[in-house]
Amino acid sequence: MKTLLKIVGIGLLALMAVLLFNTFRISSKQMANVPPLASLAVSDSAVQHLSEAIRYRTVSYEDIALMDSTQFEKFIGFLAKTYPLVHSRLTLKRINNYALLYEWKGTNTSLKPALLMGHYDVVPVVQGTQKMWKHQPFEGDIAEGFVYGRGTLDDKVTVIGVLESVEHLLRQNYQPARSFYLAFGHDEEISGRVGGKALAEWLQAQNVQLEYVIDEGGTIKIDGVSGIDKPIALVGVAEKGYTSLQLTSLGDGGHSSMPPPQTSIGMLAEAIDKLQKKPFPARLGGAAAYLQDYLAPEMPFGTKLAMANRWLMKSVIVNLLAKTNAGNAMVRTTTAPTVINAGVKDNVLPIEAVAKINFRILPGDSVQGVVKYVKETIGNERITVETLKQFDTEPSPVSDTAALGFRLIHRTIKGCFPDALVAPYLVVGATDSRYFRSVCPNVYRFMPVRMNEEDLKRPHGTNERISTEDFKNVVRFYVALIKGS
Ligand SMILES: [Zn+2]
Repeated sequence: MKTLLKIVGIGLLALMAVLLFNTFRISSKQMANVPPLASLAVSDSAVQHLSEAIRYRTVSYEDIALMDSTQFEKFIGFLAKTYPLVHSRLTLKRINNYALLYEWKGTNTSLKPALLMGHYDVVPVVQGTQKMWKHQPFEGDIAEGFVYGRGTLDDKVTVIGVLESVEHLLRQNYQPARSFYLAFGHDEEISGRVGGKALAEWLQAQNVQLEYVIDEGGTIKIDGVSGIDKPIALVGVAEKGYTSLQLTSLGDGGHSSMPPPQTSIGMLAEAIDKLQKKPFPARLGGAAAYLQDYLAPEMPFGTKLAMANRWLMKSVIVNLLAKTNAGNAMVRTTTAPTVINAGVKDNVLPIEAVAKINFRILPGDSVQGVVKYVKETIGNERITVETLKQFDTEPSPVSDTAALGFRLIHRTIKGCFPDALVAPYLVVGATDSRYFRSVCPNVYRFMPVRMNEEDLKRPHGTNERISTEDFKNVVRFYVALIKGS
């Protein structure tokens, strides 16, 4: 007995030693010794330009027939007038009329070009919510230190920020060594198939290979990660895939006075319940693992110990993450029943019951894998499962954090926002950058804007706005990124 206790004791001590060794072994992944960049003077005219850009109602509607092409044309005219040097020294190619691709030739053709991208279409304002805006969504009011309006965060901020930075550099006769493409889609909010996708296909047809791509996605989160009291610049290194499945259950119909044990609605409800009760398996890999690698060294001791010993604590960490909706979306393919239709009258048995379920697919899973999992989980041959196909997208590959593009972005963030920690993460929404995987393995999603939890509701929501100082920082960021590349 004594010997057994001894062995257990020694085992525990050894385990403690390993846990502690791993905890103390991890060191910060933050780029050190980056001198803060002297704050570039950005004139108020840049802010005025953003304000003016908001006034063009470049709205993407699900029903493409509603698109007001004159607004898109006027917006492109506004860019030409506002950025004369960009338009005289860069070449502009318009693809499918409204998608814009500028090429800025560098002096060193042995360097692969970089691509800075954004989109200038915006989502509509939800009917009935206009009154809730402090300033009207398409006026571009500048008030209380903010520019208000649809697109100030998603994503005219990027388009105008990039163009301001290039115009600024051209005014100083700056010539980059590396070539740059500026790519601006016009239908990102309705899948990007005519804009972003065509831009990528055009580059692929020219055999262009890019060093890195930077698009919207992550922001600088200034609150919300417990244990860390610094802003965190989240750089998306991957994004989830997308599919929606339609489930149809068929019953016999007839009068509701003599129903079968299960109607088509009951059958469908049971199927949905099974899917909700048996979510896709969670795992901590790819972008979520990268995020832990970067945040762990900055965490207080207890959390650091757990994160540094994922070989042992993996399931604990995954279970903890899965407790919040945001954390859950990081570790698994998510299941969201969104539409349900059945029945016409309270005393008539429905023949058909139909549900639509949206899935956001974790890198490593696939559309086909989702279909298979859903069929197996439901286990009912009387329910057909088919993909709606319109927006099917496989999850992106995970971009390397050791690649030059990531290091350049990391360095630029440190220079512009010295107090921020940099962390790679998984973007759970979709961006146009997903189309560029064929021309570049190093795709990053980051917008250099500080946001708190409250601000995250503004894109696509009410009172979308950006502070004038934050917008000037966007211009400063792109100037620094271009110069550093
Ligand atoms: Zn966007």
